[in-house]
Amino acid sequence: MAKALRSTRVLTPDGIAPAAVIVDHERITALEGWNAVPGSAELFDFGDLVLLPGLVDSHVHINEPGRAEWEGFETATQAAASGGVTTLVDMPLNCVPETTHVSALEAKRSAAQGKAWVDWAAWGGAVSGNAESLPSLVRAGVPGFKCFLIHSGIDGFRWVDETDLRAALEKLRGAGLPLLAHAEVPGPVDAATQALDRMSADWRKYSTYLRSRPDAAEIEAIALLIRLAEEFQTPIHIVHLSSAQALPLLRHARQRGVPVTVETCAHYLWFDAAEIPHGATQYKCAPPIRDAGNREKLWSALNEGLIQMVITDHSPCPPEMKRREEGRWDLAWGGIASLGLALPVLWTGMKQRGIALQRIGAWMAAAPARLAGMSGRKGVIAVGADADFAVFDPDARWTVAPSDLHFRHQISPYLNAELHGRVRETWLRGAPVFRAGAYPGEARGREQVHS
Ligand SMILES: [Zn+2]
Repeated sequence: MAKALRSTRVLTPDGIAPAAVIVDHERITALEGWNAVPGSAELFDFGDLVLLPGLVDSHVHINEPGRAEWEGFETATQAAASGGVTTLVDMPLNCVPETTHVSALEAKRSAAQGKAWVDWAAWGGAVSGNAESLPSLVRAGVPGFKCFLIHSGIDGFRWVDETDLRAALEKLRGAGLPLLAHAEVPGPVDAATQALDRMSADWRKYSTYLRSRPDAAEIEAIALLIRLAEEFQTPIHIVHLSSAQALPLLRHARQRGVPVTVETCAHYLWFDAAEIPHGATQYKCAPPIRDAGNREKLWSALNEGLIQMVITDHSPCPPEMKRREEGRWDLAWGGIASLGLALPVLWTGMKQRGIALQRIGAWMAAAPARLAGMSGRKGVIAVGADADFAVFDPDARWTVAPSDLHFRHQISPYLNAELHGRVRETWLRGAPVFRAGAYPGEARGREQVHS
C-alpha cells in the first residue's frame, strides 16, 4: 500500500511548501498538493513539522571492523538516525584493515551485515604506494577516495606527497570519482611544534595546540591540491576546511573552473577557540577549531556557496585515549564525536545569523549526496528518490545530555549545548527507523554501491 507523508512544510529543491509526498516500494513516486492525498494511500500527517530529505553525512569514521570498541556500525548508524541522517559515508581509516584494497572493503561489508540502521557507503583509501589498487576499488563500487597530506595518526594509513598524489590522480583520471584530501602539510606543523617545544609551551592550553597547527599548513596543502586538480582535471574535494585564510585561493580556483569542492564541519561553525577550556581534549581535532572571526568567515563562505556542504567528521575513540587526567593536547587522540547533533547545531547557528532553514537541503543532503555519487537517489525529496526523511521540529529547544548521545562513548564537546530544533522521526526507504527516541523495526541499512 502506498503511503502519503504530509506536512505544511516540505523541503524540496523548490523551497519549503505544503505538500503530500507519495511513497511506494521504498521510493518517492509523486509529490502532490497538501489536499490531494490519494484515497488509496495510508496517511502520515506531520502537521507543521518540517519534512526534510534524509540527511547525508559523507564524512564519518565508523571504525569497524577492527576498532569496534571505538565505534561501530550499530552505534554509528543509530546515532545517525537519531539526527535525521539516513546515509553515512565511512572514512577508510581507523578500521582494521584500512580500506585501501578490495579485500579490506569486503571485510567491511561483512562487518556491516545486519548492523546498519541507515544506508552507507565506504570511501576507498589512497595511501602512499597503493595507486595500483585504486582501479580495483573503483570496480568494487567505492564512490571515491580519501587521502592525507600529513600523518593521519594511523601508521597503516600512510600519508601522500605530491609524487603519490600524481600516481593516484593518474589512476583516477577520467573515472569521474573525487579524491578527498585532508589538507594540511607537515612543514608548518612540524616547525611550529618544534618552536613550541623549545619554549616549553604548556600543552594543557588549547592555545598551544592551536599554534601547533597554523593556517599555513592548510593554505600550502590547498594550493597544491588546486594545482593538481587543475592539471589533471580530476575532482578534488577538500575535507573539513578550518582555515578561512584559504578561502581566497579556493574562490579564485572555482572562478577559473578548477574542479575543487569544499566541506566544513559543524564544529568549526559552532565553537570558538577562545572558549575552549584548558585540558578539554574532547575538542581536539585536526585541523583545529580556530577563533570566532575565522568562524564567521566560514559562515559567509557557506552562504556564498564557496563551501558546499557541512558534515560531522564524527571520529570517536575510547575515553581513555582522550587522556583527560593529563589534559595534554599533544598526547590526546584527535577527533570530535557528534553524530546525531549536526542538524540542530547548524540550525541554531543559522537562526542566530538569520539564514533560512531551506538551505539545510543543499548543505546537509544534496551536496554530500552528489559528492558520493548518489545525486537524485539520496538527499532530496523528489520523484524517483529513495523515501528517506527527517521529521524536524525547528522550534524545539533542548540542552544536550549524555543520554542524547547515541554513539558508543558518551563524550562530546557538545554536552550541555543549548540547541534549537529536534528530529522527531527518521524514515529510511519508506519506513521509520527512529521515532520518539527509539528504533522501531530492524537494521535495514544497505550499502550504496557506486556503479
Ligand atoms: Zn575525518
